Amino acid sequence: MSFSSLGLSELILRAVDESGYTEPTPIQVETIPVVLSGKDVLAAAQTGTGKTAGFTLPLLQRLAAGPKVKANHIRTLVLTPTRELAVQVAESVATYGKHLPLKSAVVYGGVKINPQMMRLRSGVDVLVATPGRLMDLFRQNAVKFAQVEALVLDEADRMLDMGFIDDIREIIALLPKKRQNLLFSATFSNDIRKLSERLLNNPVQIEVSPRNSTAERIKQTVYEVDKSRKSALLSHLMLSKNWQLVLVFTRTKDGADHLAQELERDGISTVVIHGDKKQNQRSRALKCFKDYKVRVLVATDVAARGLDIDELPHVVNFDLPKVSEDYIHRIGRTGRAGSEGEAVSLVSADEVNLLVAIETLIGQTLAREVESGFNPKHRVPLTHQAKVRPKKPKKTKQQQERGKDRKPEKDKDRSGNKSHRRSKTKGTDKTKTTAAGKSRRRNDSEAVSPKQRTNSKAKHGMAQKSTSRKPRGKK
Ligand code: AMP
Repeated sequence: MSFSSLGLSELILRAVDESGYTEPTPIQVETIPVVLSGKDVLAAAQTGTGKTAGFTLPLLQRLAAGPKVKANHIRTLVLTPTRELAVQVAESVATYGKHLPLKSAVVYGGVKINPQMMRLRSGVDVLVATPGRLMDLFRQNAVKFAQVEALVLDEADRMLDMGFIDDIREIIALLPKKRQNLLFSATFSNDIRKLSERLLNNPVQIEVSPRNSTAERIKQTVYEVDKSRKSALLSHLMLSKNWQLVLVFTRTKDGADHLAQELERDGISTVVIHGDKKQNQRSRALKCFKDYKVRVLVATDVAARGLDIDELPHVVNFDLPKVSEDYIHRIGRTGRAGSEGEAVSLVSADEVNLLVAIETLIGQTLAREVESGFNPKHRVPLTHQAKVRPKKPKKTKQQQERGKDRKPEKDKDRSGNKSHRRSKTKGTDKTKTTAAGKSRRRNDSEAVSPKQRTNSKAKHGMAQKSTSRKPRGKK
């Protein structure tokens, strides 16, 4: 499949070509013709699927054919949950629209509002915005919605998680009734379904990978480790495996700051992004990381949402997320648009319930490892799927009677299970404790080095997953 067969104009195709994309990703194949036709879209798209170009390319083409934008008006509104995602979407709009006579802008909070008001004065064709700042601008008469032709809710699930529902409702109520609506979400909670039913008009439903599934190209591993030794293990893995560019997630802002200090102490250059950092600090940190000036970017979930870093080979979960869907968002930062990636989770015994929730969500038991020299004092209990063992045949009455006489034996037998597990770990450098682990090791030989991966996105596009598309009636 080529981009030219999707109905895109010459000027857009030229921009796509200059971006180095040779083939559309599955979500682009599905989305582009539908958006070009003017229909509403409800898309279940994981992060890294190429969804931004999926909606930007056809919207730009439709805008190029329409009327001129009036002062302070906008013609397409893209709402995103975070500033980082807003900036990235705006960059894509500018890149794909560079040969078209269209104006675009991005607005988000945490920076001065005046330059954004100036930018809007002559009107823009595409405005990418976070909801809070957009409402501030509206209240100050800096932006008018009467000319809006299309609304995009990007990463809608995260917008609801972040409490933007009231802002979103308010914004929707201000838009002209006749418009095109596109909703993209990685996961589909009941709240998202309700929002989509209210917002979308007879949408075409597009799904490129099974709901809540993790990208197949990402190798996922759990390292069992005591909480107190996590930062030492991370430094050790960084140095022994020579990881050069790692995005590390922590649950708290304090945890992020503390970890950054520890890594710096071990000689590993690190920057931090979290909610308490000013916008210019965040932008500087991200730029340093993208420019390979530092090896580690430590981030909390909210701050990391929407980060798109090309060829990011490793993501580390320093703590497991409290909300299991965040695991999918986190690891989706690697293995983007067709390249391979590795997601490593450092898990201590107290996190077993979070691990169970994640494994249930993704429908697989994660491969486990214990790094030599980091054997945990407190083992992470085996999780549901790993616990399933063949049933023992039922004992006969005679055997049961004998068993009663030998109570100490029975106790030994019970703990024998545990000691068997421990001795396995002690006896080898690394122990895989699950069947998934074994298959994972077999797949190691297929791993590709970062060098080999260069340009793999352009060459291969996305994983060739089957896609489905069904019209969905408004309820
Ligand atoms: P997104 O899911 O929109 O955040 O895109 C993820 C990454 O895929 C971005 O770095 C894009 O530059 C890249 N990308 C988008 N479309 C393509 C394509 N057709 N081929 C290769 N890479 C792409």
